[in-house]
Amino acid sequence: MREIGHFIGGKEVKGTSGRFGDVFNPNTGEVQAKVAFASRGEVEQAIASAEAAQPAWAATNPQRRARVMMKFLDLVQREFDELAALLSSEHGKTIADSRGDIQRGLEVVEFACGIPHLLKGEFSESAGPGIDLYSMRQPLGVTAGITPFNFPAMIPMWKFAPAIACGNSFVLKPSERDPSVPMRIAQLLIEAGLPAGVLNVVNGDKEAVDTLLTDPRVRAVGFVGSSSIAEYIYATGCAHGKRVQCFGGAKNHMIVMPDADMDQAVDALIGAGYGSAGERCMAVSVAVPVGRKTADILVDKLIPRVESLKIGPSTDAQADYGPMVTRAQLEKVKSYVDLGVKEGAKLAVDGRGFKLQGYENGYFMGGCLFDEVTPSMRIYKEEIFGPVLSVVRAKDYEEALRLPSEHEYGNGVAIFTRDGDTARDFTSRVNVGMVGVNFAIPVPLSYYTFGGWKRSGFGDLNQHGPDAVRFYTKTKTVTARWPSGTKEGAEFVIPTMR
Ligand code: NAD
Repeated sequence: MREIGHFIGGKEVKGTSGRFGDVFNPNTGEVQAKVAFASRGEVEQAIASAEAAQPAWAATNPQRRARVMMKFLDLVQREFDELAALLSSEHGKTIADSRGDIQRGLEVVEFACGIPHLLKGEFSESAGPGIDLYSMRQPLGVTAGITPFNFPAMIPMWKFAPAIACGNSFVLKPSERDPSVPMRIAQLLIEAGLPAGVLNVVNGDKEAVDTLLTDPRVRAVGFVGSSSIAEYIYATGCAHGKRVQCFGGAKNHMIVMPDADMDQAVDALIGAGYGSAGERCMAVSVAVPVGRKTADILVDKLIPRVESLKIGPSTDAQADYGPMVTRAQLEKVKSYVDLGVKEGAKLAVDGRGFKLQGYENGYFMGGCLFDEVTPSMRIYKEEIFGPVLSVVRAKDYEEALRLPSEHEYGNGVAIFTRDGDTARDFTSRVNVGMVGVNFAIPVPLSYYTFGGWKRSGFGDLNQHGPDAVRFYTKTKTVTARWPSGTKEGAEFVIPTMR
């Protein structure tokens, strides 16, 4: 059985804790590898390696740091097919979707290539007599990232690329469910010229995470995952004096106005609701048609589309989506569908019994569609994270606007309409972090920032874009007087620029 260890000090090392987790092939249900779970001591070794490497890396000029990122981009292009296949084999998403996962990560690496420009400080000449005032951004030291299973290439890159480009070193704790791509990425970075120890990968569970959260050498922690763990990471990291940003779960609504192009809206709901088996934090899980007529048309058009979704193994180029990541995830999603039926929602399409011939032990699930879901139901309040779309009928625009605004999650939201006034009012008033207009999955591009509101995001700064540079650096401000010989005598009052 293949064993996945850790990546410490520039090379792969075996796990020594004696604890392992199973890495499944979600297409077949077979265990395909064992991943080592790091002990406190092993994580401390990774932190020590990161601490030793960081000063020289910070002293390397930003253009040279950027060149490592540029070379890394080339190497990933060389291995794109292999990486996508590896990713799909552990996650279960289709190869095309895995390519998108890698690509959206690379776009943040491309952004990080601009680090010489992004790190430029401010300068005010002659802010006072002979006095220049300026600010500079300096790295924090050792930083860490804890990432989820659903984007095993993209989210690690969103974390380490800006952190490293800013001159930090980094310890990554990827998801134990699909750890192989992060391990391969670490090797590629060494090939790209990253000095050993600047990026370390420790695999594992809570023990590894808790070590990163409590070790005083780690200065900042970035997390992406479910909201309950995000809250824990945020509270624990902050209590240990670290800078922390955590991105959590979601319940993304898509409002369909009566004037929307209904075919476009249905296409959008099918792709954003069921793509990647709904295992995306920006998946649309709630459709909100406005007015009874809109709802009836929408549901009538959705039913045959959900019934005809093509579900296949992740290697099937014709499949719309593949299996869920683990049996536990599959069972959890099915139990939410059972719950919705008990709560009185109308199950218009039931995909619970779906079986794929030749893959009977895989974690496949057919698409489910609920109609007449109400805000008091748990299937509306909680994140399901599977191929399940709920229709909540709103009587008018104001009710549709209130639903996402009052929901405890606030990651993404979309409105489909042909009316510019409505779209503008919606984007201004909705209480959600990322908004799409006739665009179902509004993940901002790498040079803007990504982040949800309410229980979808904890901390002050978003990830990637300019906020990433702010998060991974501290600002130093210098007041300098030249020529140095100016003599004003001792001043006992606070200096002011008179
Ligand atoms: P998860 O919370 O189970 O795990 C995330 C990470 O935390 C993993 O590395 C895991 O090993 C670690 N972890 C799990 N339990 C822990 C514990 N008790 N103590 C310390 N660490 C622990 O999330 P997941 O199932 O891997 O990912 C799916 C979730 O991530 C969904 O809720 C999804 O919405 C969310 N997500 C959010 C975003 C975003 O940007 N907001 C992006 C992607 C995924």
